[in-house]
This record gives sequence, structure tokens and C-alpha cells, in this order.
Amino acid sequence: MIEDKNQQRTSIAQLGEFGLIDHLTKQFEIAQPSTLKGIGDDAAVLDFKNKKVVVSTDLLIEGIHFDLAYMPLKHLGYKAVSVNVSDICAMNAKPTQITVSIAVSNRFPLEALEELYAGIALAAKVYNVDVIGGDTTSSQKGLLISVTALGESDENEIVYRKGAGEKDLLVVSGDIGAAYMGLQVLEREKQVFLVNPNNQPDLDNYTYLIERQLKPEARVDVREILEKLEIKPTSMIDISDGLSSEIMHLCKQSKVGCNLYEDKLPLDPQLINVCEEFNIDSTTVAINGGEDYELLFTIKMDDYDKIKGNPNFTVIGHMTQESEGMHLVTRANTKIELKARGWNALTE
Ligand code: ADP
Ligand code: MG
Repeated sequence: MIEDKNQQRTSIAQLGEFGLIDHLTKQFEIAQPSTLKGIGDDAAVLDFKNKKVVVSTDLLIEGIHFDLAYMPLKHLGYKAVSVNVSDICAMNAKPTQITVSIAVSNRFPLEALEELYAGIALAAKVYNVDVIGGDTTSSQKGLLISVTALGESDENEIVYRKGAGEKDLLVVSGDIGAAYMGLQVLEREKQVFLVNPNNQPDLDNYTYLIERQLKPEARVDVREILEKLEIKPTSMIDISDGLSSEIMHLCKQSKVGCNLYEDKLPLDPQLINVCEEFNIDSTTVAINGGEDYELLFTIKMDDYDKIKGNPNFTVIGHMTQESEGMHLVTRANTKIELKARGWNALTE
């Protein structure tokens, strides 16, 4: 579906391991004061002075987490960085460094890895993180990519999943559900393409949804916005698996319940249109679709006035006593128990 117009194919075996590492990594420059030594020695050297360090890692495997039939390699590189940086943001920390490890089969030419690294380099620049190391090895089949992200924070600024109080407000950044519907559109187009490879997909009505799926952004801005508003969230998590399951994580770790309001869910108009086209309930998508990488957090009720009307955030519910359980309050004012179904539940 996404054609490889790059005709040149340089075999990676030609460069050798060290030549390849050098070729892919020579573009990276160091910008963070905490990076004393980046790529080029046995280990990187970092100095965080009096800050605490947060670390998170993710492994992405071809055929499980991504499909190169519709995922351009540059986007994959970008997304691999975004999803890790997002985890650092979910701790209310500032992302500072990443490492990138890859395992590649010989079906990938050098040009493909250059594309992957162009996406990694772009994301590193956008998020202002240094690429300080990694590992490079071969795989018998397919591509594996693992990113580790580091970030810094003052100890008292770190926000955990566990701090939500009983009357706190539940807030989400941006809008939700779009990445999941983007995937549905891409899957549909892939099936059409498999039947008729000459059929060029018309994706104009789906641009926002597809972008949310292929090029998710980590919300590095949220920490700064909240700081300016003088709000410290009481608990926080990023939405990778789906709103419902992330709410359950916050509730379980904070020992509280929750009421989530259907009519408050922030949905993009394009999402609503495409859900109608696919005959899927948009609330189900918003609650169970994943990979939006928005931030979900709780704030004290007293902070409501600071956040009210802010275009970055929507108050979607409030926490309750643990014994009240976790519920979706529908438009018809009925209560449905929340279930963690995760981002792939709808396709099962
Ligand atoms: P070692 O033999 O100690 O594992 P390598 O030769 O694998 O060292 O790596 C040399 C340097 O290049 C190290 O600084 C390492 O972190 C970095 N590096 C290796 N592979 C990658 C990669 N895919 N992306 C970024 N940096 C890498
Ligand atoms: Mg190595």
C-alpha cells in the first residue's frame, strides 16, 4: 500500500556492524546539559545533579506492534520515540535522553534503516532529547526496536498513579479514540489493496485519524502548561491501552472509585463521522481504543477554576469512594461498570 519508491538498496552486510552504527548515529548531537558522554564509548555518562531520574522502556516487534504494509519506517521511528517519551511525561518529568536498540533481518537495506533513523532523529529534535546509545544486532525475521527513555524531575514534582483522592476531578488532555479509528481505516485500506494493488486509497476524509495512529505525539507540553496554571496533578498515567483500562489503573493504585461521564468525552468531529461510517459506537471507541498517548490525570476539586475552559484539557469525571466502583455514566443517565478491554479488544 505504501510503495517503496526508494530504488537504491545497499546491503547492510556491506557496511559491517560498526560501519552501520556509525552511519546511523553520526547525525546525533548532544543538547542536554545532563549528557556528559553520549554515543561512542562502552556506556553513556549522565549527570543529573540534584534531580531524580525516571526511566522507561518499550519493545516494539514487527507483526505485533506495527505492520510495515502501512507504517512507513520514518513514522515507526518517530512513534517508537513518542511512546517512550510519553511514559516520562506521564510521571510529570522532563524527558532528556533515549537509547535505541534494533534487531534487523537482511531483508532491510541500509536505505530502510536510514528512514527509520530519520524518524528517530526528528522525534529526538522535537522532544529535545539526546540519543545517547543503543545496540544493533541482526534478527532472523522482521524488525525489532526497543527504546529506553530517561527524564529528570524534582522529587516533589513526580506524579505517580497512586495519588488520586476521593473527590478529585478526572481530566484528560486532547481528544481520544482517533488513533484506534485511524488503525481501522488503515486496516480496511490494506484489505482493499491486497485485493486490487492498483487501487490507490483516497484517505482525505481520514487524515487526522491516520496521523493520530501513525504519528502520535507525546504530550511534553502538559507538564509546562500545568506548571504555569500552578496545578500539580494528584495522579497521572498516559493513555496507551485505552481510557477505561487506564482509569482502572489509577483507581486501583489510588484505592478510589470513579464516575466517568459519557457526554464529557472529548471526541474529534472526524472521529464521530468515521464511527458513523463504520457503524461503530464512538463512546466504545473513546473508552476502549488505545494509542492516543494523551495524558489522564486527577486534580483537586479546588483547582477546577484554574483548568476550566482550558482548550488543552477536559474534565471527564470525578473520583469516588472505592466501594462505589468504577462506572461510565451514560447520556441516558444509567451507570455501566467500566471494564478494561485494552486497545485490541474491539478487533477480537
Ligand atoms: P558494545 O560492543 O559495547 O555493545 P557497540 O559497538 O554496540 O558497543 O556500540 C558502540 C556505540 O554505539 C555505543 O555507544 C552504543 O551505545 C552505540 N549504539 C550501538 N547501536 C546503536 C543504535 N542502534 N542506535 C544508537 N546508538 C547505538
Ligand atoms: Mg552493542
